[in-house]
Amino acid sequence: MTNQTILSWFKPTWQQLPLIDKANFPQSVLLTGKQGIGRNQFISQLIQLLLCQSVKTSEEGQALACGQCQSCHLFTSNNHADFYQLKRLENKQTLGVDQVRSVIDWVELTTTLNHGKVLFIAEAEKLSISASNAILKTLEEPPENTTIILLSEYEKQVLPTIRSRCVHYLLPSPDTHQAREFLTNWYTNAKIEIDSTQIDVLLKICQNAPFDAIDLTNSNKLEQRKAILNAMKIIALSNGSPVHEAKELMKLMKKEPLDYIFYCFFTMIIDILKLQNLGNHKHVLNIDYFNELNAFSNLISQYRQKSQIFSIYDELQRYFEMTVNPLNAQLLLESYLIKWKNCCLNS
Ligand SMILES: [Zn+2]
Repeated sequence: MTNQTILSWFKPTWQQLPLIDKANFPQSVLLTGKQGIGRNQFISQLIQLLLCQSVKTSEEGQALACGQCQSCHLFTSNNHADFYQLKRLENKQTLGVDQVRSVIDWVELTTTLNHGKVLFIAEAEKLSISASNAILKTLEEPPENTTIILLSEYEKQVLPTIRSRCVHYLLPSPDTHQAREFLTNWYTNAKIEIDSTQIDVLLKICQNAPFDAIDLTNSNKLEQRKAILNAMKIIALSNGSPVHEAKELMKLMKKEPLDYIFYCFFTMIIDILKLQNLGNHKHVLNIDYFNELNAFSNLISQYRQKSQIFSIYDELQRYFEMTVNPLNAQLLLESYLIKWKNCCLNS
């Protein structure tokens, strides 16, 4: 990693960590924080520092990796033999016991560079019960010079037996000012022209997660978001065909999963419910689509329609709780859009 600056909203957490004398650093650590706020950057900086042979102190008094020693070079080129990241295997919903057993074997091996060893488990909440049981002893008494770092979105998602064996640190989300400042600099450095209103809209959509905002502008996600809004409009206001609109959306997606389309649909349904029940636009996420969402909200006035929109909300919520991908995503999309049409029809 070349950029050693700690993201401004993480500085208080970084200061809390006993980093100046690494001997004081806890051996089993649980970090929690929302996705899209720069967790990976923080953890990468932390691991590099724990492995660094010549830690330096910044002008602000922060401990930082030197960026120049052999260990730093090996880490930044993804070749450090004393670092291991435990990842879920493709198509597996959990981190299984076999994977954990082999990683425990790695933990027990001798340190190559004699500057400690770091194991990183990125989705601590995905450890299966048997995998969790297998790693408990190692978490409780890691070998000398070994640090185990676990990451999860929320503390409560991690099994209590794991939590109780780790020291917990929170990675806070940036406030709007910090997120806006970071994004403005990021787009300036990337030479991408974007005005402050667009940045505010992106931050609203991404709930202040600046790396999610970057991901939106670096992918076709904004296009997907607009496409689902257009499909909703055509169906609700011009008597469009849900089957036809689903087909058009599938063309846009090619072979990509529909998760983001479903997510946008879900947030727009939530916004309509907020407009109906709270009556103000302060909490609307898709603020740039306020006029369209307000028009939908005005259209859905009868009792029957209101219960329909709640049923769409329930179904989408269940979709995001599902642990397996749907067999036929197009059919699922069609069924949601048919429900949307029924919801908008005046009887
Ligand atoms: Zn170094």
